[in-house]
Amino acid sequence: MVRINSNWIAACAALLLTPSASALEIFACEPEYAALLTELAPEAEVYSATTALQDPHHVQARPSLIAKMRKADLAVCAGAALEVGWLPVLQMKANNRKLRDGQPGMFYAADQVETLDQLTQVDRTMGDVHPEGNPHLHFSPYRMLTIAQALAQRLGEIDPANKASYQANLAAFEQRWTEATAKWEAKAAPLRGQGVIAYHTAFRYLFDWLGIEQRGDLEPKPGLPPTSAHLASLVELANSGQVKAVIHTRFQDPRGANWLAQRSELPVLALPYSTGSEGIDNLYQLYDQVIDALLAELTS
Ligand SMILES: [Zn+2]
Repeated sequence: MVRINSNWIAACAALLLTPSASALEIFACEPEYAALLTELAPEAEVYSATTALQDPHHVQARPSLIAKMRKADLAVCAGAALEVGWLPVLQMKANNRKLRDGQPGMFYAADQVETLDQLTQVDRTMGDVHPEGNPHLHFSPYRMLTIAQALAQRLGEIDPANKASYQANLAAFEQRWTEATAKWEAKAAPLRGQGVIAYHTAFRYLFDWLGIEQRGDLEPKPGLPPTSAHLASLVELANSGQVKAVIHTRFQDPRGANWLAQRSELPVLALPYSTGSEGIDNLYQLYDQVIDALLAELTS
């Protein structure tokens, strides 16, 4: 008599009954791409390597990140050397063939769009610059749309069984995002031409999109923290009437901005940089909050 293990039968039945047994495991380098993935692949298990309160330039290649990367079917990262200090280490240690550069499983957002501020010549005296252009792409709604289109395509390549649903999710995202973009632009119109001092080029695309002018940078050189000599050199600009606020992200050290604010009448604005914390659950809420905060501070 052939005995069939009943546990085995139960396991088979469970597999057959699980609708998305093939749900993708996706590794996002930054929470903004985890948020985009949630729009396009809500069934997937998405893990973000960083939070909105972490500086994405500087991340430790922790064992937990290596373990996540080892299991992932797809990794989605900003690219343009944003993660140059940590992603290659993760890729090497995770040793996941699917996520090697050039494989379909390794998706870089910056490769899908034209970046701002590309440099043809870079030398060490320029600081920690991004020669492939600015990688802080996610405040460009048009670039995010292009990235979403390329990402939906890539999801379909990696998981052909669900290709149609990725395309349907993309279509829904395109419609809602395009409508939201028009509303944001109308609302943010008073921000055009307003001057600010900011920290790094973290909001480069936001300012470019909304016509805000970054007239000073708290960094003496890209990637270098503010020095007292450099901050002192900004006092005149801060008091010139040409800028309305000192802006930094919530992951950056506020001391330089606060120092400058104490020597001028300028308010300090700590803007949220990404999704997934502080009650910001998706890209729409992120854009809403940032635009509302800018309007309140720069146009009052
Ligand atoms: Zn940067």
